Amino acid sequence: MAKLTFLGAAGCVTGSKYLVEAAGASGTSKKLLIDCGLFQGTDDLKQRNWNPLPVDPKTIDYLVLTHAHLDHTGWLPVLSRDGYKKPIYANPATIDLTNLLLKDSGHLQEEETKNAIKNKWSKHADPRALYTADDVTPVLAQLKPMPRKGGFDLSPEFHFESYDAGHILGSSSLELTITENGKKIVVVFSGDVGRYDQPILNDPISPVTKQIDTLLCESTYGDREHDPGDPLQLLADIVNRVVKRGGSIVIPAFAIGRTQTFMYYLRQLEDLQKIPKVPVYVDSPMALSATDLYVKYKEDHDLEFAREERGGGDPLDVHTFQLTRSVAESKAINDVKTPCIIISASGMVTGGRVLHHLAQRLGDARNCVILGGFQAEGTKGRALQEGAKTLSLFGQPVPVKAEIVEMGQFSAHAGKSELLRWLGGLQATPKQVYLTHGEPSAAQSLQQAITEKLKWNAAVARYLDTVQIG
Ligand SMILES: [Zn+2]
Repeated sequence: MAKLTFLGAAGCVTGSKYLVEAAGASGTSKKLLIDCGLFQGTDDLKQRNWNPLPVDPKTIDYLVLTHAHLDHTGWLPVLSRDGYKKPIYANPATIDLTNLLLKDSGHLQEEETKNAIKNKWSKHADPRALYTADDVTPVLAQLKPMPRKGGFDLSPEFHFESYDAGHILGSSSLELTITENGKKIVVVFSGDVGRYDQPILNDPISPVTKQIDTLLCESTYGDREHDPGDPLQLLADIVNRVVKRGGSIVIPAFAIGRTQTFMYYLRQLEDLQKIPKVPVYVDSPMALSATDLYVKYKEDHDLEFAREERGGGDPLDVHTFQLTRSVAESKAINDVKTPCIIISASGMVTGGRVLHHLAQRLGDARNCVILGGFQAEGTKGRALQEGAKTLSLFGQPVPVKAEIVEMGQFSAHAGKSELLRWLGGLQATPKQVYLTHGEPSAAQSLQQAITEKLKWNAAVARYLDTVQIG
């Protein structure tokens, strides 16, 4: 009997890992892992990254990724080091992004551990990195392409159909058909579901299968809607008020994804002459042009690249745009005393260069921090969102005097009614739904809505629970 174990993103929004076990064609049990994410946020969650999996990685047969975000891929180096040596399947855009994210993550883990040792910040007697850049290298060689959309026969027992989830470049919902003893079982993984009617990315597509035995649905915003209001006007108001008082804006965001949404809006506001042309720094150690990735993966978005097609400006570049790559360039932004906008990772302020920009600028009431994405429990981003008066950065308490603005309009996740719209688009009634990838109140709220509005069987997934899926 096929079964599924929630190895992460159950009761929390990080650490996505779902283990499927089914009887294989040869009579032996086959194990398939969907996603391999890092836990982020509270100390308890982060501790799970250090615990061995309840299943020996050497015994896992297959691995498939829904998208590249670290909470879906960031534990791959540990899994590989612990014995998983087989292919990791993902579509080409997800492979490119996972490359960037994991290399960055490996360097960051090393750098932060070195700093913790040098400055004695760690609570641990012997701080060490969860993994290093060297642990990342073999993972990159294990990544193997699968189609962006349509069918893919992974093995005699596992077949996938992929659908654009509209969340980031390459993000997918996966429909898995398991053939077990001649019987077909269909499991749908929503992955992270994006938003409808937004610029840049496509709308999420609901899988069209006529049979769903089990559905795993994310519930990040399962208990709330995104703020109404025109993001263009709201952003114009913020930029104008901060520039007027001589301040700067810091936006925590990874270099690919929300960064482009902000750039797109800022560019429009500049062209409409609704904001002054202030310098925008995208501070990322990755030597890349995000635009190149958007040009490469055109099927994921509806941006028209004027640069390429009409020989004009690039819709993702503001007029005064600087990509900083080296540490020296990044630190030089500290010397910019005139109004500017700094976009830097990580999006939930869990690490990365945004920490030093915040250390530099949080203490000045003229400045502003825009939180555009979901801020998980236990992260510094959540502390800012909840109105913390000080933030501990590099072992020092930094007073929070800057204005903190939450802009849910820039979230890459569907709000509650958008999740219900995605569910309503399914063409089969799932026999059982499990709510994953949400904090308990969000998952419960969506469960209640599904039960009341759709009359489907829905339960909140529990960490390490194993359920029958056939
Ligand atoms: Zn995601």
